[in-house]
Amino acid sequence: MLQENEHIKCLIIGSGPAGYTAAIYAARADLKPVLYTGIVPGGQLTQTTDVENFPGYPDGVQGTQMMEDFRKQAERFGTDIRFGYITSVEFSNDVHRVVVDGEKTVTAETVIIATGATAKWLGLESEQKYNGFGVSACAVCDGFFFRGQDVAIVGAGDTAAEEATYLAKLANKVHMLVRRDEFRASKAMQHRVLNTPNIEIHYNTEAKEIIGDGQSVTGVLVYHNQTLEERLLPVTGFFVAIGHKPNTELFKGILDMDTNGYLITHPGSTRTNIEGVFACGDVQDHIYRQAVTAAGTGCMAALEAERYLAAKEHAIV
Ligand SMILES: Cc1cc2nc3c(=O)[nH]c(=O)nc-3n(C[C@H](O)[C@H](O)[C@H](O)COP(=O)(O)OP(=O)(O)OC[C@H]3O[C@@H](n4cnc5c(N)ncnc54)[C@H](O)[C@@H]3O)c2cc1C
Repeated sequence: MLQENEHIKCLIIGSGPAGYTAAIYAARADLKPVLYTGIVPGGQLTQTTDVENFPGYPDGVQGTQMMEDFRKQAERFGTDIRFGYITSVEFSNDVHRVVVDGEKTVTAETVIIATGATAKWLGLESEQKYNGFGVSACAVCDGFFFRGQDVAIVGAGDTAAEEATYLAKLANKVHMLVRRDEFRASKAMQHRVLNTPNIEIHYNTEAKEIIGDGQSVTGVLVYHNQTLEERLLPVTGFFVAIGHKPNTELFKGILDMDTNGYLITHPGSTRTNIEGVFACGDVQDHIYRQAVTAAGTGCMAALEAERYLAAKEHAIV
């Protein structure tokens, strides 16, 4: 049975860099935000070790520590942070209704969606074991740690091709594992990869196991999926670039999204197709997917929510 309704000015869904930044701005603008963390409090960065590219941390920071700092800053200005998962939504162009954990309904004048995205993994046990210790789903985030070393990357689409060429500038050698006998990437991206001398492409090749010494990655056991011949590639980094899934199931049929499920916002804005509903962070960004860009759009969403409420109030008076 649904519990009693609660009405709030600004509801934030998600506790990654986008959600917490939106909360800091919304709280300081006196919107009295309520933030639901979802099942991953702190978001994707809690799954990694060192973060070295977020401004303000000259010595780098652990992902969990950084998100703890975000949370404390959002709390300091009065954000009501709650552990809970939004299970359904009903958006209108006026008041929006969401259900938390299938039990409690909340109505809100503005909703900021910051539900992020989830990296796709191969599903190997060893991949999880060494995640953050040589295994990564983000070349831009972690490539720097593998300067002058040999690495492998899995994937055949545009993102994989882009990440492979990015890694090639830092690493000594990049082994690119392509499951089929051809790329899925555009011709232009293929051309870039094929013309990068330190990328070796292994077609019809899949990872069987990530090998390590218990602390970090020392190699990857691969096999040819036609001949089944196995081979050990001595690498210290293993990058998975097989795509991301935006967390947008909830909004299907309600909010505009692209063919991959990313929410569509108005250009240069976090506004969605429904008034008073804003989207920020990775849930609407398949290009940059960085903590700092997520935080930047979180700020935009809170400012836009504040301006939307101010304009609405003005119209009524
Ligand atoms: C292994 C790894 C390492 C990375 N390293 C770096 C790095 O070094 N530097 C960098 O800039 N970026 C890095 N990134 C990318 C960075 O983590 C993301 O760009 C950033 O976290 C996106 O922030 P976000 O707030 O949009 O979403 P996320 O961090 O994905 O957070 C989404 C939040 O939404 C919540 N949520 C989802 N659905 C619901 C729901 N229905 N109800 C309530 N809550 C919900 C989740 O619980 C979570 O709290 C890394 C990513 C990974 C996976």
